[in-house]
Amino acid sequence: MARIVVKFGGTSVATVERIRQAARHVKREVDAGHEVAVVVSAMSGKTNELVGWVNEASPLHDAREYDAVVASGEQVTAGLMAIVLSEMGIQSRSFAGWQVPIRTDDAHGAARITEIDPTELDKRMKDGWVPVITGFQGVSPHGRLTTLGRGGSDTSAVAVAAAVKADRCDIYTDVDGVYTTDPRIVPKAQRLARISFEEMLEMASLGAKVLMIRSVEMAMAYKVRLVVRSTFDDPDAPQVAPDGSNTGVPGTLVCDEDEIVEKQIVSGVTLAKAEAKITLRDVKDNPGVAAAIFGTLADQGIIVDMIVQNIADDGATTDITFTVPDSEYDKAIKTLKDAGDRIEYARISGSKGGAKVSVVGVGMRSHAGVASSMFKALADKGINIQLITTSEIKTSVLIDEQYAELAVRALHTYYGLDKKDA
Ligand code: ADP
Ligand code: ASP
Ligand code: MG
Repeated sequence: MARIVVKFGGTSVATVERIRQAARHVKREVDAGHEVAVVVSAMSGKTNELVGWVNEASPLHDAREYDAVVASGEQVTAGLMAIVLSEMGIQSRSFAGWQVPIRTDDAHGAARITEIDPTELDKRMKDGWVPVITGFQGVSPHGRLTTLGRGGSDTSAVAVAAAVKADRCDIYTDVDGVYTTDPRIVPKAQRLARISFEEMLEMASLGAKVLMIRSVEMAMAYKVRLVVRSTFDDPDAPQVAPDGSNTGVPGTLVCDEDEIVEKQIVSGVTLAKAEAKITLRDVKDNPGVAAAIFGTLADQGIIVDMIVQNIADDGATTDITFTVPDSEYDKAIKTLKDAGDRIEYARISGSKGGAKVSVVGVGMRSHAGVASSMFKALADKGINIQLITTSEIKTSVLIDEQYAELAVRALHTYYGLDKKDA
């Protein structure tokens, strides 16, 4: 007997009929004698609709009220799932974040889970109940509803799994695993039987939205075995891992690097669009100048991604280029112009509409030349590289958005990731 936390994403619970399909997966696990807790997202499109209403009511709304509205989608699904499970003869009860409770800090709209009290969930599961918990939400130290940021139900699921010491956390979604790249962009993408926490973390950070970044961080920290699998697979089909190993679970296992026998040099290619780049020219090359620039942006809550600083040619001034999301571009330019008296630079320029394309793989640690081969593959397609950043297991480039898909496909083929029979 195992203890399993299962999470269903928005498309998996988009209608009552789909909730029924999802519930059949739960029933299979219950019938096999496992203890199960369920975490649900809002029906697909619901959260966007709620966010839209909040912005329509007032673009300058209080974040506490944003959370009060936006958290409601998950409550609907949790109740419906509990009803459907009960109808199937499974004892089930819904739990909102505050009822568990799932405690968070008070960063409304992007709260972090601080503690989950497992007592009630533990008791329910031992007594043969299936608790259904609202994803994406928690309760602040002031007793108010909080939400965890978009895609946050993944994080709720992993946090619940860690709290109740689950043997596994199954993330049910609309694809049957983690692929070498987004299968909606590259039909030749291949499903990975296993991927290491670190690679998954990089892929999530670099644009693969199949798992929220924070959920992978948490799974890595608490050693939660994470599986990404499809809700739309037949719930009654045999439960076999894609690599034939006896994990007994279809889909992709996200696990420790030691559990991966065949280490690829490049395991995946990711794409993040809508990246703007900003360049400050002739910045005074003094100690503290980078701290002043990026501190000023951080104070405004602007998240900076890639940063490149040139060596000062004349020993006096330098150029600094960095990227921010397109949506933050105007605010970032204004912030730096307003700070012109504190940060000395000659000119500021930039543009929206960049795309960050990255290759990820733990094998890069021990293989030289991945970056250069990546640049060559892009050059062969006539794609110009604007910025480059690397880390131990990834290389990213910023390119013009119009070449994004072409670049992803070219790299996918170049590194031998294409499905053989496609
Ligand atoms: P859910 O609503 O279940 O949380 P999401 O839409 O958040 O689902 O995430 C699933 C989607 O992630 C897929 O439909 C797929 O298009 C996208 N995706 C992006 N990169 C990858 C990848 N490398 N592997 C699998 N799916 C990916
Ligand atoms: N419903 C939330 C969202 O759309 C959380 C989630 O689905 O994970 O972002
Ligand atoms: Mg998601």
